[in-house]
Parts: sequence; C-alpha cells; structure tokens
Amino acid sequence: MILPIIAYGDPVLRKMAKDITSEYPKLDELITNMWETMYNAHGVGLAAPQVGLPIRLFLVDTTPFSDDEELSKEDQEALKGFKKVFINAKIEEEVGTAWDFNEGCLSIPDIREDVKRKPEITITYLDENFEPHTETYDGLLARVIQHEYDHIQGVLFTDKLSSLKKRLLKSRLEKISKGKIAVDYKMRFPNIKKGR
Ligand SMILES: [Zn+2]
Repeated sequence: MILPIIAYGDPVLRKMAKDITSEYPKLDELITNMWETMYNAHGVGLAAPQVGLPIRLFLVDTTPFSDDEELSKEDQEALKGFKKVFINAKIEEEVGTAWDFNEGCLSIPDIREDVKRKPEITITYLDENFEPHTETYDGLLARVIQHEYDHIQGVLFTDKLSSLKKRLLKSRLEKISKGKIAVDYKMRFPNIKKGR
C-alpha cells in the first residue's frame, strides 16, 4: 500500500526517532509499504518519519544511481542492487574531507542543493530480521545512508545549507508545507488550511 509522504513543515520530521523492538506491531507490513511508497516516488531512500512514524527505521535502494555513466564500473556495481533495511541505526564514525553532492528529498519536492558531508561512515544497525551489523561505507552509498540517518535524528538536508541559502529557500519551503506544489506522488501537507 502506498503511504502519503509527509511534507516539509510537519513536526514528525523534527523528532529524534525512537528505537523499536521486533515486537513492533505489523513491522513486516510497514516495511513492505515503505518500499512500495519509495519506489512509487522514484526515491533511493525513505525513513519512517517521512510516513509519519518517529521510529528508527529507514530503507535504502541505490540501484537507480548505478546507471550513472560518470561513475566507475566498480562504483556502479556497488550501487546496483544495494537494497537494505536499517533498524535502530547509529553512525559510529564519519571520516574524511567533506564533499559536495546535490541532494533532494521526497519530503521537500523540487528543491535540490549541494550538501557537504564526510565521505566515509561506520554504522551499526539491525536488519529486518533484527540481526546486528557493523559496516563501513563510502561514496554515494554513505551519502544516501547519511541523508536517511539524518531523518531519524530529526534533521533535513536544508538544515545543512548556508544561512543565505536558507533565506533564499524560505518562501519555497513555506509553499511546500502548505501544499502549494505539483507533485506526482501522494503527500500529506501540515499547513493546508481546513475549510472555514
Ligand atoms: Zn529525505
């Protein structure tokens, strides 16, 4: 089932998300619905707060990036079929010299900006079977994971922009929160005025 994606301005996107246990109600169904919702919106990642749930769960499938012909064969292979569920994730370490990548977000349609992040991360998480993993990623894999991880920390990529960029984007972000935007997937907007 395709779930509405929560738009910029909703307080759920600002909460520090909580850990879950394997007893979390209908978790399999939620994960299935989140995959369906992400693919329908042509995203490469989706975090639970973006479907209204302040829990530490996000999904990543970087396969669409693997077509990029500017990437090395090795990078293309790493991105192809990289499909994972991250539960109760914690980034243990981020290292290297921060680099720019043009990011977008399903909760903030039509806005794309260069964001600086460190290139290599080590992350501890549980998979969908609640098996623990500690893994190190770099490049675009790290980038997508860092973006989704920020969502469970209540952080959005627009927070990482310069104060000038933020001022320039302010009115566009307000329009998004009011639903004054054309988008080809289902969304829920926090500031739509109800009829009087
Ligand atoms: Zn996002």
